Amino acid sequence: MLLPTETVYGLGADASNPAAVAAIFEAKGRPRFNPLIAHVHDAETAARIAALDDRALALAAAFWPGPLTIVAPVRDTAAVCDLARAGLDTVAIRVPGHPLSRAVLAAFGGPVVAPSANRSGRPSPTTFDDAVAETGDKAAVALDGGPCAVGLESTVVAVLDGPVRLLRPGAVTRAQLEAVVGPLAEADNDARRSPGRLALHYAPDAPVRIEAAAPEPGEAFLAFGDWPAGEGVFNLSPSGDLAEAAANLFAFLRAADRAKPAGIAVAPIPDEGLGEAINDRLRRAAGFIG
Ligand code: AMP
Ligand code: MG
Repeated sequence: MLLPTETVYGLGADASNPAAVAAIFEAKGRPRFNPLIAHVHDAETAARIAALDDRALALAAAFWPGPLTIVAPVRDTAAVCDLARAGLDTVAIRVPGHPLSRAVLAAFGGPVVAPSANRSGRPSPTTFDDAVAETGDKAAVALDGGPCAVGLESTVVAVLDGPVRLLRPGAVTRAQLEAVVGPLAEADNDARRSPGRLALHYAPDAPVRIEAAAPEPGEAFLAFGDWPAGEGVFNLSPSGDLAEAAANLFAFLRAADRAKPAGIAVAPIPDEGLGEAINDRLRRAAGFIG
């Protein structure tokens, strides 16, 4: 099922059904070792599946429903099958905020895996049309929830032994998290623990050049802030607003790519607040490990 969430469009399936989960990996062409996020309707359901300690519960209270994924020890290994967890003894869990995904989760009752509805390695779809173009032929049902309000994947934190660790920057910022649980442990690049942090995720077909002061001839340009309009120019936010830029990022990467430019140059984005997540995705689109 193509399922809209506030972050990006997901390809949803029953998390307890290994055959359904296998079909999702197949549809995305996704490496098997990459575990999926289980989406549930509420924190009570989440607490039955994962062991949420006081810090996890405080994060849940502060940010659910919303764009935060919590990785915690798995309690009920049947509810989110082994394949969905890539065999780990932890589970990634989120309560999304989009009314359509909430209605589906309420009706279904159990956890639903819903990785971004792109083929593996490509930018996440943030509009219904982009989702249908990526994996629509693989979905029996496609729900149109309009453009995704956030437009960037959820923040992923691990709440295990030791301090809370930021596994993937996202829509909930580091400062917002630290206001609830104090200083986060340094993010590391252990790709096995958070395989979504592999390089060359989120890549369009054209090569991406980041931190570009201006486009070269033949390049499309993703501008940020004051920049003259023109052919091949996509301004992520003329007013320099990071939330607007996050919401536009993937749709504009796709739009720029459609004209088959020699490359896509991207203006420097300030590395504060949501900018941390935007720059993480841009470094990956450009083929650098962040
Ligand atoms: P996606 O579903 O495409 O938004 O990606 C899911 C993200 O959650 C990826 O970065 C995964 O590596 C991460 N993730 C899922 N389950 C776990 C887990 N048990 N431990 C660590 N990271 C996880
Ligand atoms: Mg994805």
